[in-house]
Amino acid sequence: SHVPTVTLNNGARMPQLGFGVWQIPDDEAAAAVTAALEAGYRSIDTAAVYGNETGTGAGIARSGVPREDVFVTTKVWNSDHGYDATLRAFDTSLEKLGLDYVDLYLIHWPLPKRDRYVETYRALEKIEEDGRARAIGVSNFLPEHLTRLLDETSVVPAVNQIELHPWFQQAGSRAFHAEHGIATEAWSPLGQGKGLLDDPVIARLAARHDRTPAQIVLRWHLQLGNVAIPKSATPARIRENFDVFGFELGEDDMAALATLDSTRRLGADPATADFA
Ligand code: NAD
Repeated sequence: SHVPTVTLNNGARMPQLGFGVWQIPDDEAAAAVTAALEAGYRSIDTAAVYGNETGTGAGIARSGVPREDVFVTTKVWNSDHGYDATLRAFDTSLEKLGLDYVDLYLIHWPLPKRDRYVETYRALEKIEEDGRARAIGVSNFLPEHLTRLLDETSVVPAVNQIELHPWFQQAGSRAFHAEHGIATEAWSPLGQGKGLLDDPVIARLAARHDRTPAQIVLRWHLQLGNVAIPKSATPARIRENFDVFGFELGEDDMAALATLDSTRRLGADPATADFA
């Protein structure tokens, strides 16, 4: 397959387009992951809280794609913040995935009210040092949370996975990441499919390029330099979302998409989010 990669700050390479498996039930995850790998994806994004690490690992094994050719991400859930709890949670994730290392391990949310993300991150540093994660990073971290990690820990996060789509473009975080060598990964890159894919500006660009709205949005991510991890459980859409390397948006198209930005999040606000 011909997925472009981004080079992370430790030299590891991460496919710029991956497959997200949130909300895919464990007993359907293997089939979805196999379909994605057959379509050419080489990066899979799961998390302990998605409850589908077992199915995800089974799909990778069943696909026949060599382990070293697949970039696997999982995340430590909020209930496991803290140094020891995170080490234990990581063991459980590896066991469910049936793997002896992951490519990327992330802290799912910073939970600033609990104030344990620095010690949680130190566990990730240990896991990386032991060779059980090829890279470590975070998710849903605001620049103020990243600043604390930069000040108080030794490994600069390789990635920050954040909500990012044309209706929530995250210019501030993207600039902060670029300044510090942190790759920006977009979650809900299609705006969860609702609304955004019916946007008239996107529809106009889709008609102009003879592509689908989802393909226009994914192309926008790639051209901005984001890593994107669209989710679908439908094989035809899984393939459609991967078929984004044969066309290019022009400067005028990118400018039209830039105007769609708003301050409305689909997900929780990391400054206040504090859930199980
Ligand atoms: P998404 O933006 O990828 O949208 C997925 C939905 O869009 C699908 O369920 C489907 O309804 C629709 N869709 C997908 N392809 C389509 C197509 N070609 N045409 C029309 N509709 C289409 O949303 P997501 O699942 O929320 O995000 C993707 C991944 O990001 C998740 O699976 C997960 O891996 C990750 N994620 C991470 C966090 C986090 O806190 N770190 C939060 C949310 C999601």
